[in-house]
Amino acid sequence: QLDIRLPTSSIPEINRLSRSFNRMAMSLEQVEQKRRELIGDLAHELRTPMTTIRGYLEEIVDERIPPTADLLDRLIKEVRRVERLVMDLQLLSKAEAGHLPLHLQSISLNSLLLHVSENLSTQLREDGPTLTLDCPSNLPPVWVDPDRTEQILVNLVGNALRYTEQGQIVVQVRRDDRNAWVTVADTGLGIAPKDLPHVFNRFWRSQHSRTRHSSGTGLGLAITQRLVELQGGTINVDSQLGIGSKFQFSLPLTVSTLTQ
Ligand code: ADP
Repeated sequence: QLDIRLPTSSIPEINRLSRSFNRMAMSLEQVEQKRRELIGDLAHELRTPMTTIRGYLEEIVDERIPPTADLLDRLIKEVRRVERLVMDLQLLSKAEAGHLPLHLQSISLNSLLLHVSENLSTQLREDGPTLTLDCPSNLPPVWVDPDRTEQILVNLVGNALRYTEQGQIVVQVRRDDRNAWVTVADTGLGIAPKDLPHVFNRFWRSQHSRTRHSSGTGLGLAITQRLVELQGGTINVDSQLGIGSKFQFSLPLTVSTLTQ
């Protein structure tokens, strides 16, 4: 614990200095607290895949189980999960520290959406939900980093696919004076009201996701929120348990193409 606060003084100049010193000490304490929390969270998240990997490897080495193709496949999946976790965390910490370079340019959101939905349509199951795009053809271009925007869309539509058994996923685009608004709506699991305030928190995953969808990292939405905000937009969620979820975010329209 840091405890380096100075007493305040009756001499105004010193008083002012010690107050600003105390403010700095407090923010240092907060940074230190955040760092401790992050390391604790990360250790917790890494423990499960690492224990699984070690457990299987020990059994193989002791010749208690044969290294079948299935088992090796399972091990590769766990290693990939650790890899994803580390990569996602690196991206999130860069985004949080403002060290993520953005290559902003004027692009067609509709073309990007088409490209993303074509790529993701390979994940659509025959008995699963349908994926529909609803975009106005006369939408002005948006001023964004195409790769980061693709990542936002992949995360949100990917989640909708992962957490929706049946029904439909609709990606809708609308605009106001300054922004394009993208809504990704699904008829999936939904999120309980008590959980909604946590969905954008790093490593938060519902109990259901933890037990049924082991491939996730719990970092997708935290990254998505940072990427939207870095590009000047906002993101919000509305959801009902058992009915479905709606994630909506904004992106700035290219100013020079807007009629005054
Ligand atoms: P991940 O999907 O890897 O677990 P995310 O940060 O993308 O991590 O999402 C955090 C959690 O929010 C998920 O584990 C899930 O519980 C919940 N969630 C996200 N998107 C949806 C959705 N479309 N429907 C229901 N639950 C969702």
